[in-house]
Amino acid sequence: MNKTVLVVAAHADDEALGCGGTIAKHAAEGDQVHVIFVADGVTSRNGTEPADLLQRQHATENARCILGISSVTFLNLPDNRLDGLPLLDVVQPLEALIGKLAPDIVYTHHYGDLNVDHRIVHQAAMTACRPMPGSTIREIFAFEVMSSTEWASPGLAPFLPNFFVDISAQLESKMQALEAYMLEMRTSPHSRSLEHMRCLAEHRGFCVGSAAAEAFMVMRVLR
Ligand SMILES: [Zn+2]
Repeated sequence: MNKTVLVVAAHADDEALGCGGTIAKHAAEGDQVHVIFVADGVTSRNGTEPADLLQRQHATENARCILGISSVTFLNLPDNRLDGLPLLDVVQPLEALIGKLAPDIVYTHHYGDLNVDHRIVHQAAMTACRPMPGSTIREIFAFEVMSSTEWASPGLAPFLPNFFVDISAQLESKMQALEAYMLEMRTSPHSRSLEHMRCLAEHRGFCVGSAAAEAFMVMRVLR
């Protein structure tokens, strides 16, 4: 039976970086994939112009088409300042959307990321996905986002993957989606470069005997 999948990401590009191949795989298998972007992703940066926001939205739409995402929703909460909001202000809009979308599977950020928005989105998503009677959610996974997950303080909630999705057949789609976000990518040898993203997918794949994979931490699975 086809599944409903929800990705709860802080910023437009986190979905492609963290689980772009997995999204494309779900879509190819007939699952419906919805993405919620919690922060707007542009407003905190110096010299931000409305044109930057438009460009980002254009990139998001391109990536949506490449990966086969059914819907994207922007909550438009303040970028890189989610820690200035009461957690409830992040949880409540998520709860409302989760109630409407009724996902079976949720992907979100790792709780030990350097980026404060990622940490808060993780906390808010886990709160909004708490296993109340009647909840549709059966699986929650946390993904890694380069230049955040691997840059956190040593020893603080390390990312220890224990769930892998073989994306050998989706790696090129993931790379295309990342190219759509070229403004967010950096040149090699930066951690968030196209070259490193391909290396990472190969590394995660080789760890489990496949050509390419995305790695996750299992947050909760109910069978
Ligand atoms: Zn992010």
